[in-house]
Amino acid sequence: MSHDGMTRRGFLKAGAAGAALTMAGCATKKSDLPLSEDGLPLIDLHVHSDNSTIDAITALSLQQGIIYGMVEHAGTKENVYPRVLSNDEELLAWTASLEGKGVYKGVQAEWTDWSSCFSKKALATLDYVLTDTMTFPGPGGKRMKLWEKEAVIEDRADYFMDAYVDWHLQILDGQPIDVLANVSWLPAKHAESYAMLWTPRRIKTVVEAFITRNIAMEISSSFKLPKTHFLRIANEGGVKFCFGSNGRYPNMGKLDYSLQMARELGLKHGDMWVPSKNGARAGK
Ligand SMILES: [Zn+2]
Repeated sequence: MSHDGMTRRGFLKAGAAGAALTMAGCATKKSDLPLSEDGLPLIDLHVHSDNSTIDAITALSLQQGIIYGMVEHAGTKENVYPRVLSNDEELLAWTASLEGKGVYKGVQAEWTDWSSCFSKKALATLDYVLTDTMTFPGPGGKRMKLWEKEAVIEDRADYFMDAYVDWHLQILDGQPIDVLANVSWLPAKHAESYAMLWTPRRIKTVVEAFITRNIAMEISSSFKLPKTHFLRIANEGGVKFCFGSNGRYPNMGKLDYSLQMARELGLKHGDMWVPSKNGARAGK
């Protein structure tokens, strides 16, 4: 099958093997990707395989006409998730299980020591690395999941925010990542003050780091974040965007908020980030 002129319809008709060919070949070519009405690539780069199989997920991808990027948690075993890839053998088993399935191969990296678990050669089997800032240094510098009830979170919102912005910079400046997901998410204690706490100054500080490091910003349909005022500043700064559902089966590919925000901002194909065939930055 030729890669040229691969339309959305062609993608749908081609089936998993055809999609895989397209992905492995020249996925950065505009015509290879299924497109939204606004001409944006229909890719959900934040799909988890929990509770399902790759084959069931691939079937759903074809049915929806949306390409998925699959991510598994990756980092040291100090990070607690049902499955955490922590060495080359586990990472290579993950990427091998996705080979030829018509999906992008990714991980959701944990904390700031994840890359030390893997060789460059193993990381080079990934198409991209996504991470987020939701695990934050707690008492004694221990990793603390900000969404858990047990999390010890500073009551004074401005103090929390300043530390949280610094944490964003540590990750954006210091980690070999391609995508930051769940951007601008706040713990329940401060979430109601989102509009007030994400000041233009704080947003600009974070956005500059995205631009300097050329990291893509996820527009998350699961959290419905970032909100419009945050996204506008990012867009004006020239940040590249991608879409994510953070979905577990069968909730992947639900990109309503992402597409709605893209339309509100008037995003064009060139504003979107797509994994390149050169693979994840961390593998270089
Ligand atoms: Zn996730």
